[in-house]
Amino acid sequence: MRLDTNVQYIKGVGEERAKAFARLGVTTLGELVMNFPRAYEDRRELRTIQELVFGDMCCVSATVASQPVLTRIRRGLDITRCVVVDSAGRMTVTFFNQSFVRRALIPGESYIFYGRVEGRIGAPEMKNPVFEKESNPPGSTRRIVPVYRMTAGLSQRVIASAVRAGLDICGDELPERLPEGVRERYRLAQTRFSYENIHFPRDMESLELARRRLIFEELFILSCTLSFMRGRQQEKSGAKMARADMAPFYAALPFKPTHAQERTIGEILTDMESGRPMSRLVQGDVGSGKTAVAAAAAYNAVKNGAQAAFMAPTEILAEQHYKSLTALLEPLGVRVGLLTGSLGAKARRETLASMALGELDLVIGTHALISDGVEFSNLSLIIADEQHRFGVQQRAALNDKGDAPHVLVMSATPIPRTLALIVYGDLDVSVIDELPPGREKVDTFLVGEGMRQRIYNFIRRLVGEGRQVFIVCPAVEETEETPDNLKSVKEYAKELSERVFPELRVGLVHGKLKAREKNEIMESFAAGQTDILVATTVIEVGVDVPNAALMVVENADRFGLSQLHQLRGRVGRGQHKSYCVLFEGSGGDAARERLRALCRTNDGFKLAEEDLRLRGPGDFFGSRQSGLPDMQIASFATDMELLKTAQSAAKELLEADPGLQRPENGPLRSAVDAVLEKNRGTFN
Ligand code: ADP
Ligand code: MG
Repeated sequence: MRLDTNVQYIKGVGEERAKAFARLGVTTLGELVMNFPRAYEDRRELRTIQELVFGDMCCVSATVASQPVLTRIRRGLDITRCVVVDSAGRMTVTFFNQSFVRRALIPGESYIFYGRVEGRIGAPEMKNPVFEKESNPPGSTRRIVPVYRMTAGLSQRVIASAVRAGLDICGDELPERLPEGVRERYRLAQTRFSYENIHFPRDMESLELARRRLIFEELFILSCTLSFMRGRQQEKSGAKMARADMAPFYAALPFKPTHAQERTIGEILTDMESGRPMSRLVQGDVGSGKTAVAAAAAYNAVKNGAQAAFMAPTEILAEQHYKSLTALLEPLGVRVGLLTGSLGAKARRETLASMALGELDLVIGTHALISDGVEFSNLSLIIADEQHRFGVQQRAALNDKGDAPHVLVMSATPIPRTLALIVYGDLDVSVIDELPPGREKVDTFLVGEGMRQRIYNFIRRLVGEGRQVFIVCPAVEETEETPDNLKSVKEYAKELSERVFPELRVGLVHGKLKAREKNEIMESFAAGQTDILVATTVIEVGVDVPNAALMVVENADRFGLSQLHQLRGRVGRGQHKSYCVLFEGSGGDAARERLRALCRTNDGFKLAEEDLRLRGPGDFFGSRQSGLPDMQIASFATDMELLKTAQSAAKELLEADPGLQRPENGPLRSAVDAVLEKNRGTFN
């Protein structure tokens, strides 16, 4: 039977159960055997009735001593009960609404029962135990039993027996997708063995071998796919740009670039003169100076007669970049434009026309830059700032705007390098691992409610010294502020301004405001016209207010570590000693432990690793849109070692056979094609 056979034809499934299987994402035989257990129960140990441990799940072998008796308690509830015995003990087994048991349990026959031991000493009882005849081969008892994800209409037993039937039919047809050389080199179990033992492990060692092989296989195929894509990317040709004379640019910068900035700029210019389209990720902690690096790339493109686009995730940031880049680059002859959603119709028309005519060299904007009807005359460089908010699809859309343009992606989310390879697949990575000199550590404190008055006093003192303060309240996502949430932020801001700090100027900014209103509020804060800015996470990325010296975060337990680190990066950007105060909220011990990591270190990479370890990759990126592909069995949080191994194995294999054209790599090539097909539009 072929792997794409509909599950409904598997013995014991049928049309109705096939519908339930579909809810688990299982519609074919292949998907059935690839629907791996989420856990296992070790039911190997067989006890006597006397050895049963109250409260534990146990297997016991016993003989049915009395005819099961069915009692109807009321409509919809009946109980079947009987006594079972072994050589030295007796036990009651009770079943609710399982009247078939009356005929299934035959007096005088021996069965293995598996269930939780209840009742009293001397009178043990099992309720709804799993059972099977002792003379049958081990099925749901006396072995390690798989536990599958559940859905209505399917029991564990039904799923397991369908998988059993499925493996019996197709076991020998399961493709060996790992080339033999790889399998041998990394000592990986064979396909058939692995599928058999991942579902029905013979023992713990076999289970471990099976898991290791299947996890490796999944990560290996993903890694091969990404390397393969990258290879294809490198075959394309892109605008060849000679290295511009950067001296005027460096002379115009208001500071001396750090070594890390210079190195990164060098890597970018090398990419741009290679004749192939650049695909580079610049990763640098908050405040590491990514904007200057982007400006250098834009300067180089413009001096080569090309246009550059700079996308920011929010209008606030786009405006801020527009201001600082205009100040830096216009004196150098670069014509800078701004295109955002809140531009008036006339201004928008004019900007669009200038872009299309090539009268603007660098255009800064938000998503508006990739909306339909936006045309460039000669777009050759695209810069995306704080990329994780864009999503890979949008990056792909940008790619379509020019003719194989150079793409530079900048992220402040420090992602462990191995993960970056997955999330950003086809990108080369530069790391700005150095902060500009003179940056002092932001002292971070974790406090409880009891400290609130003292923190308020601290705020008064800092404002008295001329500093400014951010107070951030959690709100789901910029665009997802629920009315309740918004209400509480508004009320909190009101309370602060009317009762707590009547003598201070308190502003409020949140995601539901119009872009123009947001900008006005941010600008007046940046201009020092507001002392305290209460905000939801709209300020998380990028905003630069060097006079702000304190970041207070309410209910800090609701944020991820990486997100809090970003927030903290909003202060300590000037010459003033800066602080971050985290109110711990009601997250409990685990949350407190997590937050303490922030007090210990200012290193974003360390925090990222910690966050990943503690919360897993989904939360790590602050939203479901992690950019990570769905995995069947591997976990990016726990299988890091195997991921590294798989990545280097993939690299080696593709170096030897870049097009995956050798016959022995045929099955792997099909698997890679399948991943590409499944993720069409996600991986660009
Ligand atoms: P981020 O990497 O977070 O985007 P920015 O580019 O916004 O960082 O830079 C943060 C601040 O540091 C800005 O005020 C910028 O002018 C300043 N800055 C950047 N590079 C340097 C440098 N080499 N020396 C001194 N200050 C710098
Ligand atoms: Mg930035």
